[in-house]
Amino acid sequence: MGCWNDIVSGTRYSFKALGDLFFPRKCAVCQTILACEERNICDDCRNDIPYTWFWSWPENPAEERMWSKVGIESAASLFFYRYTGGYGHILHKFKYRCNIPLGLETGRDLGKKMANGERCGDIDAIVPVPLHWRRRWSRSFNQADIISRGVAEGFSSQPEGKSIPVIRSLVKRTKMTSTQTRLSGNEKAENVKNAFRVNKKVALRLLSKGINHILLVDDVLTSGSTLAACATPLMLYFRVSVATIGFVE
Ligand SMILES: [Zn+2]
Repeated sequence: MGCWNDIVSGTRYSFKALGDLFFPRKCAVCQTILACEERNICDDCRNDIPYTWFWSWPENPAEERMWSKVGIESAASLFFYRYTGGYGHILHKFKYRCNIPLGLETGRDLGKKMANGERCGDIDAIVPVPLHWRRRWSRSFNQADIISRGVAEGFSSQPEGKSIPVIRSLVKRTKMTSTQTRLSGNEKAENVKNAFRVNKKVALRLLSKGINHILLVDDVLTSGSTLAACATPLMLYFRVSVATIGFVE
């Protein structure tokens, strides 16, 4: 049986090597060609990821930023993010080039770190920040949803980790907002104000099942306006923490 497994995994490896020969896979960060055993990001770039360590840092910069808008419990981001070049490519490739495995893997990394950190280990459920249905339809997937799945997998993969549900029916985005990137801080807050609505029935059902602490997940924490607008109606029912992949300094 062991021998058969070796043949199967060897064959799989050979197919992968053959695929790499004709369609070389590139590192999402530095674009060098990946070795057969490397996934999405080369080992050199993986060793240099500019991690924030917010998951073990009380009163970290993400929390300070969120607290200036809304009284969440805690906040964590995986790495420091810049829009252009380097590690910014990770989110760009995932979001705009539909590299779903890269999004899942990055989410898993965040989940593992949070499960072992001191700041956000006690969450009961994960809620991805929803897109408006029209944007969701044109983009074909919600990036926050993929990251949430990864975070849940990361949590449950840890020795002490528990299985945490990802809940998509709790919050709806009722307002189609224009893109936030070119707006000032105040304009951003005004743009997303009242954009989210909580389904009361779902909220009460979750509370009755003992779900009290929600982790709200998005791809990037910039001004924090979108996360604050989404957290506000949730906080009528739950304690809320937030997590993102990127943190813009
Ligand atoms: Zn690289």
